[in-house]
Amino acid sequence: MPEFELTLTLGQFLLPPVCTGILIIGTIFFLYIYLRTRETLYIAVFFLGFFGIIFVGSETLILIFGGWFHLYEPGMEFHRIEQLGGTFFLAVLPYIMAYLLHLGDKWKRVNLILSVIGIFVTMVILLCAFIRPDSFISMKHHNARWLVSEAYYGRGAEGCLITVRDILLGIFIVYGIILTIFDLARHRDFRSMGPVLIGIFFAFYAAIVDIIYQYGDIMLDPFQGIHFSRFTAGITVAIVCIMVSVIMQFIDRTKEVTIAFRALNSTNERFRQISETISEVFWLIDTRQNKLLHINPAVEKIWKIPRTALYIYPETWLSSIHREDYEKVKTLLENPDIKNGEEIEYRIACKDGSTRWIRENYFPLRDENGAIYRLVKLSADITGRKKAEENLAFLAYHDSLTSLPNRKSFYIDLERTLALAKRSQKENIRGLLFLDLDHFKLVNDTMGHTTGDELLIRVAGRITNCLRESDSIYRLGSDEFTIILTFLTNYTDAALVAQKIRHVLEEPLLIAGQQIIVTVSIGISLFPKDGLDMETLIKNADIALLEAKKTKDTYHFFTEAMQKKAVHRMQTITNLRNALKKPESFLLHYQPLVDKNGSIICVEALVRWMLDGTIVYPLDFIPLAEETGLILPLGELILEAACKQQKNWIQDGIQKVSLAINISPKQFRQKGIIDIINRIIDTAGISYKDIDLEITESCIMEDRENAIQKIIALVQKGTRFSIDDFGTGYSSLSTLQKFPLAYLKIDKSFIEEIPANTYHVNLVRTIITLAHNLGLKTIAEGVETENQSDFLRDLGCDIFQGYYFGRPVPADEMTSLLKHKRL
Ligand code: C2E
Ligand code: MG
Ligand code: MG
Repeated sequence: MPEFELTLTLGQFLLPPVCTGILIIGTIFFLYIYLRTRETLYIAVFFLGFFGIIFVGSETLILIFGGWFHLYEPGMEFHRIEQLGGTFFLAVLPYIMAYLLHLGDKWKRVNLILSVIGIFVTMVILLCAFIRPDSFISMKHHNARWLVSEAYYGRGAEGCLITVRDILLGIFIVYGIILTIFDLARHRDFRSMGPVLIGIFFAFYAAIVDIIYQYGDIMLDPFQGIHFSRFTAGITVAIVCIMVSVIMQFIDRTKEVTIAFRALNSTNERFRQISETISEVFWLIDTRQNKLLHINPAVEKIWKIPRTALYIYPETWLSSIHREDYEKVKTLLENPDIKNGEEIEYRIACKDGSTRWIRENYFPLRDENGAIYRLVKLSADITGRKKAEENLAFLAYHDSLTSLPNRKSFYIDLERTLALAKRSQKENIRGLLFLDLDHFKLVNDTMGHTTGDELLIRVAGRITNCLRESDSIYRLGSDEFTIILTFLTNYTDAALVAQKIRHVLEEPLLIAGQQIIVTVSIGISLFPKDGLDMETLIKNADIALLEAKKTKDTYHFFTEAMQKKAVHRMQTITNLRNALKKPESFLLHYQPLVDKNGSIICVEALVRWMLDGTIVYPLDFIPLAEETGLILPLGELILEAACKQQKNWIQDGIQKVSLAINISPKQFRQKGIIDIINRIIDTAGISYKDIDLEITESCIMEDRENAIQKIIALVQKGTRFSIDDFGTGYSSLSTLQKFPLAYLKIDKSFIEEIPANTYHVNLVRTIITLAHNLGLKTIAEGVETENQSDFLRDLGCDIFQGYYFGRPVPADEMTSLLKHKRL
């Protein structure tokens, strides 16, 4: 039987069991959360509760067994357990605080260390309590009476450890309060930190009460005289508050997680939308397991294979790569140092048999050791761009019309061919053919550019087909082609090729319903005979072509004589250029034109060039001047001089005859020629009626519309127009009809053999009839004999010009002739 009586109110009695119950529920709850989340904070709170249960539970047991039922007098066992719980509670507290407060990692570490220290101190206290129980707690009464009576704790050595523990407890709790207040002040997280503060405060209260109680009664103590309950309630409230705080944080975090989860969901949705709509293929590959984690539908459009097939057999991708690009891609994939964004372009063979170009960018994901564990790839179909690039590259080296290699390719290939030929041990002959279509300009001008283009394409095709594989043809521009012949066994082989080309062009071409016969002039230079380097060979082939062009529809090998001629030609051009700076180098001779009665009705101005004291005749420089464009300043010079002379004759009162001036085709086509003529005639102060202009057939056949306007402009003012050298050109009757012409000058080549050549006789007769039918007068050029003159007169020719009537003479001689007017 216990020797004491314990009188407790129901409230006092129920407090410890109720607190124990609350703690048990809370602790189980946190254990559950810990098991779900595996977060150390929750297991720490669990331990907090667990030690709380030990503490408060042992108090309850003391109360039940010793205090109420008097069954057993609680001794040191329960007491030790109680202190154990309290002490461990103390030790775990800083650790929890570290988690609950918004402390940095540094403070977390400090609190962790404090927890370790707390546990260590607890262990020491416990050890001491078992070795020297009275150093832990000293009780004068080893029975339950201390619970109700004035418990007496020894001072000094006895019970000193419990004092140490309580002081430590106090320090830790005060430390906790300071941290919490500090945290609250900084973050104002009253929702979750408020309960912590209250809890810590209660812990503080409990600790203070416990310490003070050991040394004396506390004023205003509702449990006056009763040792337990205050501390029990304090610890329970502290633990519950901390638990509430943890729960609140847990709820907050759950909310955050829900929001994050929702955000993640919508991010996923957005990612899905992007992934399914972009035209690029997006790959996510687990490189360690060689597994495809994600691929978007774009792959099906480009690769033409179902996505699922790639998921099951990712290697399908590798096997789709073009044979020639496979190694390149493989090397990149196996490179451990693959850069972020590294780019590669390769071809793939699609399931539908097509070849596509892919541009791929690689983005490796690396682990902490730098090893690649994932690979993100972005593939784009660049077939269109590649084709455009190839097209551009093709166009850079090819002619867009005929698709033949162009001038650039020609230079590159010729250089290479010659380099190879020079290196070769055997004697290697190479041939260079320069081709120029005859009268191509006429086709263009009369039949239109579309026909001209078609003609070029067809000619290019025919020539290409007749060449050997080893020979190459190039289009240099317009109607100029060139051919490099390789592996010729002798020089005449080149002639065979030239013959073959002429032969394949013999067959008329049917273009736009019209039959066109095209002929070609070819110039040939040979390596090594005609030159060892590119420049010389090109120059010499060009010289040979120029020679061939003179006769047309033929080929010419380059010869030394040609070169001499070419040099001479160049020299003449230079001289002509220089002479133009000194207008006095040119003078005009005049040749009379007479009517049927032998009266001079006109004089033709014919230019002469005085070069180093000798006369150079027009046929030796006019074509060159025409070719080089020098005819424009020269033509102007002649016009001015002729008009001035005509003015002199008029002024001198010599009976008026008209003056015929030759206008070359280039000069006539010149923009503003009418203005120039107007200016010169006006400056000279003569009438338009005093001037006849001689133009050639080509002048009116090329660019007819412009020609007709120019002629009309001058004819309206009184000038007459003649067609010079008629019969050598290609003018058609219907065209002639449209022009307001005055004379046809029958070319002297037809007059020469009259009357012996019946063909010419017939031709001239036809021309005269034709001219008369068109209302034109005829002029016979190059009449050298009386016989010719009579015959032509009989044929009905109107006007005559030739040595028989008078050679071209200088102006003063012509003046005296004119004075007589008759020859
Ligand atoms: P063309 O206009 O047909 O001039 C007639 C040419 O025939 C002249 O040659 C003249 O000397 C020559 N000729 C005249 N009668 C006879 C003859 O009975 N027998 C022979 N064999 N020839 C005769 P030329 O002066 O050498 O001029 C040749 C060509 O040069 C001219 O042919 C003309 O096309 C051109 N030419 C001459 N002077 C000029 C000029 O001032 N401007 C332009 N643009 N061309 C000119
Ligand atoms: Mg003439
Ligand atoms: Mg003539």
